[in-house]
Amino acid sequence: MRPRAGGDLLPVASTLLPEAPAFAGARNAASDRPMPAADDLALYIHWPFCLKKCPYCDFNSHVRDEVDAQAWQAALLTDLRHEHAQTAGRRVGSIFFGGGTPSLMPPALACALIEEAARLWGLADDCEITLEANPTSYEAGKFADFRAARVNRVSLGVQSLHDEALTFLGREHSAAEAMAALESAQGLFGRVTFDLIYARPGQIAAEWEAELARALAFGTEHLSLYQLTIEPGTGFAGAVARGRLTPMDADEAADLFVQTQEQTAAAGLPAYEISNHAAEGAQSHHNLTYWRYGDYAGIGPGAHGRRNGMATIRHKKPEAFLRRVGENGHGISEERALGREEQLSEALLMGLRLAEGVDLAALATRFGTTPAALIDAKRADFYAGLGFVTRKGEHITITPQGMPLLDALLAELVPAHLCAA
Ligand code: SF4
Repeated sequence: MRPRAGGDLLPVASTLLPEAPAFAGARNAASDRPMPAADDLALYIHWPFCLKKCPYCDFNSHVRDEVDAQAWQAALLTDLRHEHAQTAGRRVGSIFFGGGTPSLMPPALACALIEEAARLWGLADDCEITLEANPTSYEAGKFADFRAARVNRVSLGVQSLHDEALTFLGREHSAAEAMAALESAQGLFGRVTFDLIYARPGQIAAEWEAELARALAFGTEHLSLYQLTIEPGTGFAGAVARGRLTPMDADEAADLFVQTQEQTAAAGLPAYEISNHAAEGAQSHHNLTYWRYGDYAGIGPGAHGRRNGMATIRHKKPEAFLRRVGENGHGISEERALGREEQLSEALLMGLRLAEGVDLAALATRFGTTPAALIDAKRADFYAGLGFVTRKGEHITITPQGMPLLDALLAELVPAHLCAA
């Protein structure tokens, strides 16, 4: 559901829907909200099922005629208890139901998992509990039950405010349905975010500017804005290979990225991560834990975890996951200790995605090394001269101008022995 798209591309229609209303409850007291405590554990729960596969999607999502909710509840609870046994004594600061389409799961199942996490670990007072949802009327009809289950933040996969673009992206909802779901979510949950995919084939700057302006007018405290990319193995990748789809030119896409940064910043939702924008204090606690390289437990098919210096991966295929949980008491397919250099590499690669950048001194202290060992200083100075990097003492940040080149900059700045770790 979180889009990273991939895409074939038909021209996107310029037809605009009526102006979006400014919904109530928007950017309220977000700045008073505390950030997650550094030692809290984040808990990710993967629900692997979708109604159909979107042609840009490379997530671990599967279409099944029937899903045995009871069997899944039992398996996920077992997997959850296994993770608790490895992390006892920690407190959970955030829970994220991702997918797949977790809004398809019975709310009672989500409730059972949240209650068990609270019983086992205990939840922080301000524990952020996010549910990814598709904005169909069916799923919006379940929002009140998810709210009653203690979900307090919803991430809606809106993807576009144009019906023709939604058809192109293979989505199951219309733009009108998405807006109705957004309004319903804003009324029920304290916190709402939604995703849009841009840099679609044929999209011109003025159209994206108008679409983004309408998205910003909804008044949500957070937006995720992803460029359409073609991921291997997706339907769009096949269309590109057959010559039926031509992705947007990289320079055009980079121009739209810059436009997006300027427009969101002007509207009070600057980027705090390369694709994520929030009002002050409204950043996703859960995702900040990943990017700040905090510990997280991941349960469910294909979920990854990082806890206590260990990396965990679970079986991806739903049937294999269920079977292994029954046999082993958990769904882990691979578990290994991470070396110090590998952890440093991951921490740098994740942290430099953030607008706040990385405190090299703190990172060096955490992993018992020196700040000088973490970044190639000569290259950092060179790219600072080009305006792509800011270096203040031991703090390094990729500038908004550098963000479109993030992958290339990471390869330049992070020393080779760490990149290879
Ligand atoms: S709805 Fe399912 S298939 Fe579509 S983008 Fe989300 S996870 Fe992928």
